[in-house]
Amino acid sequence: MGISIPLLPYHQSMLCFSILTVGSWLSSASVLMAEGGLQVGAAAVNLQCDETMVISGSIEPRYVKDQEGELRSVAIVLRLPDQPPVGIVACDVLCIPKSIIDPALAEVEAKTGIKPGNVLVNATHTHHAPSAAPIHGSGASPEFCEILKQAIAQSLIEAYQNLSEEDCDFYFHLGEEKTVGGNSRLKLPDGKITWINPLKEAGENVVPTGPFDPQLPVLDFRTATGESRALIYNHSTHTIGTRSGNVRSPSFYGLAAQELETELGGTTVAFLEGASGSTHNIAQVPVAEAVERMKQVIRSARE
Ligand SMILES: [Zn+2]
Repeated sequence: MGISIPLLPYHQSMLCFSILTVGSWLSSASVLMAEGGLQVGAAAVNLQCDETMVISGSIEPRYVKDQEGELRSVAIVLRLPDQPPVGIVACDVLCIPKSIIDPALAEVEAKTGIKPGNVLVNATHTHHAPSAAPIHGSGASPEFCEILKQAIAQSLIEAYQNLSEEDCDFYFHLGEEKTVGGNSRLKLPDGKITWINPLKEAGENVVPTGPFDPQLPVLDFRTATGESRALIYNHSTHTIGTRSGNVRSPSFYGLAAQELETELGGTTVAFLEGASGSTHNIAQVPVAEAVERMKQVIRSARE
């Protein structure tokens, strides 16, 4: 699981509880982790892009005209009584260098008091967004770097400013999705390792050379009336694939998050990329179907 649960300032007794019961979470109902006293704020800022911005995630630089969904910086701020606030930010980009994060969090600290050390910034690792850092053959888009920096700061500041006045409850559900993704380095009978089209080359003899983490934790922050004010989910497949061909896209994870927001009527949903070193959608589940499978696990977590 790639998520940093200890970042959440729940009490020690709850931490013990979580260790004792982790085995029973799988496929079970959500567990109430913290009741009352928790303020939750959330905000999403769109990253405005255009066709002049180089896309990273391929070996060669490329440019695309159209876009599906939004590319965003999604921030959630949490505050417990007598505790400093913490922030979690998910950005629909391949990766984010320190040179963007540091000034963004300095601005956040100046305007909210949230310490940079209390903020987790996660790149969803979509391969379909403008480049924020030199990767492979593509440089970074200076315009996009500036937009990303401002969006990280703005989303955190807005989330802090809209911290709930009422107390919220924190629910946790450890779900699982093991059909969208798998270890993509498969060992062949002759000892060689296949990677480009692994399932086809391996045939019926599928021998992964490493693990795949199918866990799909859902963190659900609910108001006293039971509505989800913010949701965070985490999964560990490379964020590759679009629904509409050659477009900018948050890929299946971001599309699922944005569609759930609409379905839930205003909840902010953030996706955090987990341990996806060499884990890919090797079964080539179509993106539209992958979106549905993610949404289904998250929906069931809320039931
Ligand atoms: Zn990648």
